[in-house]
Amino acid sequence: MAVRVSSACIGCQACIPACPYEALYINEEGLCQVIEEKCVACGQCVEVCPVSALSLPEMAHEAKEDLTTLAGAEAAVLSGDLGRYQGVWVFIEQREGQIMPVSLELLGAGRQLAQKLGVELAGVLLGHQVCGLANKVYECGADKVYLVDNPALRYYRTETYMQVFVDLAKEYLPEIILMGATTTGRDLAGAVATELRTGLTADCTGLDIDLQQRLLLATRPAFGGNIMATIVSKAHRPQMATVRPKVMRMPALAPGRQGALVQKEVSLKEEDLLTRVLEIVQEQGEQVNLQEAEIIVAGGRGLGDRDGFQKICFGLAEALGGRVGASRAAVEAGWIDHKYQVGQTGVTVAPKIYFALGISGAIQHLVGIRGADVIIAINTDPNAPIFKECTYGLVGDVFKLVPLLTEPLKELLT
Ligand code: FAD
Repeated sequence: MAVRVSSACIGCQACIPACPYEALYINEEGLCQVIEEKCVACGQCVEVCPVSALSLPEMAHEAKEDLTTLAGAEAAVLSGDLGRYQGVWVFIEQREGQIMPVSLELLGAGRQLAQKLGVELAGVLLGHQVCGLANKVYECGADKVYLVDNPALRYYRTETYMQVFVDLAKEYLPEIILMGATTTGRDLAGAVATELRTGLTADCTGLDIDLQQRLLLATRPAFGGNIMATIVSKAHRPQMATVRPKVMRMPALAPGRQGALVQKEVSLKEEDLLTRVLEIVQEQGEQVNLQEAEIIVAGGRGLGDRDGFQKICFGLAEALGGRVGASRAAVEAGWIDHKYQVGQTGVTVAPKIYFALGISGAIQHLVGIRGADVIIAINTDPNAPIFKECTYGLVGDVFKLVPLLTEPLKELLT
């Protein structure tokens, strides 16, 4: 998978500094050579070559390959016929017959993308005895459901789900595929994108369309969350993205809304599959489930120590019937477990009320709370970035202000 050099090379050396991997050199004849072990075919040298003497492996492949021998999706990509890809697909992740909320949220986001593009929105439902779930998918905005119902699909297994999904995508050629950034969605999306030889933007916080070029604009934090990057897949279809739970709003249900059902049969025999599910063991221990919480009281480094954190956060959360969350600083200080962490490397939440107590409002924290209806911040520093994002801000000491709220609330609510 290294870059190819053609006889058009004039030895100008423009490519040498462009290569971040030092994979190019000029040979004794003054022409460019590629060190195959170092080259990752990133394409940076291809862009700077003034005589188009460099090409990516796939482009070289295109010239030689007889496109008519390739299956639908590959042929369309290689011939540049991206227009054959139509429609937005959402993977409907279900466990034991329950649709994961993120899939419904993605139907809401997918509906908007489909509307902009003037195409259909479809849900892809894989499982066993899950046909009944199609109605919910239509009610959340899908025009169509692709259903594959087979006993071998009862539990998620990467290779089985991937193969079924890829076969559907090759047959029906969707232009956009969205999946939840859950453990299953992340696993499946990567496998499907690899098999379809297309691009995937993971953990997006925003999706939009460039109508002129019919491109999916997939936005996500990059470089440690310091910038928001909008990523496009210009040359490959389908365009794929995963989105975390609670980033997109749940769509309004349209009860009784109907759509088309495309049911596909597959022959999957348990004995042919590489993985067997022997037993499902439920995770033990406390379930935090911040994503479903309506009120979250989150604490940060400003709470000083473990005792301060416990007293302030759990005290107010208990008074309000809410749950406790934390910034990474509080988690790293060992005051609370990582499963309570909110933000880029924690969970994304969308409560009705989010209290940020002694939290400065670093971008990595903010990306996890933008779905909150109301953010109430308490911080001693009037210039803390959280005050630019919050709905109500109180400049002051949490240890003085929070008890003033907690005690009357306790009395009010008991
Ligand atoms: P600080 O930034 O130290 O802020 C403490 C605040 O408390 C200050 O604003 C201070 O004025 C205030 N304060 C002090 N005393 C009081 C008091 N008595 N009363 C009221 N206010 C007081 N962070 C996350 O939270 N979640 C993530 O998922 C996450 N992921 C990350 C991923 C990467 C790749 C990187 C590089 C960083 C990530 N971070 C994340 C870390 C993030 O950059 C910040 O360091 C972190 O959010 C800071 O936590 P904090 O606001 O509690 O602490």
